[in-house]
Amino acid sequence: MIRYAHILNDSIVDGPGMRLVVFLQGCKWNCEGCHNPHLFPLDEGIEIDEVQLAKIILKKINSMHSGITFSGGDPILQKEALLKVIKYIRSRRPDINIWVYTGFLFEDINNLPLLKEIDVLVDGQFKLNEKDISLKFKGSANQRVIDIKKSLQNNKVTLL
Ligand code: SF4
Repeated sequence: MIRYAHILNDSIVDGPGMRLVVFLQGCKWNCEGCHNPHLFPLDEGIEIDEVQLAKIILKKINSMHSGITFSGGDPILQKEALLKVIKYIRSRRPDINIWVYTGFLFEDINNLPLLKEIDVLVDGQFKLNEKDISLKFKGSANQRVIDIKKSLQNNKVTLL
């Protein structure tokens, strides 16, 4: 089972092109200035079977979308369940571009099987004193937009 809060059909700020964004429930970082404090409790939101959520996502995806972004909350807090969702999506749409946002650092989670299934990880907690609204796809300068396939190949962080 996995918990999510809501799904946005048409974001243009959570990755390239128009994206379907799935906001997963639960976060432990408590970043100052966070826009989504209502997503903090891990026991709230909508609890759903992983395959059911994957099917809902696949139904919503259309030719206007450039990909799917999992945000939150921190999706990595539900990493096993999220892996099931992504694997199901990949089994139907192997081509689909998938981004995940997290407060964890790549170096601390680079062994997770989940990473092998995604294209981009935006890592690091939001830092209010490094906030910069001109940044693309991230809120503060410390966060990194990481090309996961290249980073796993090179065994070091490779930015997109
Ligand atoms: S990681 Fe994201 S959702 Fe969690 S507290 Fe920080 S800004 Fe908010």
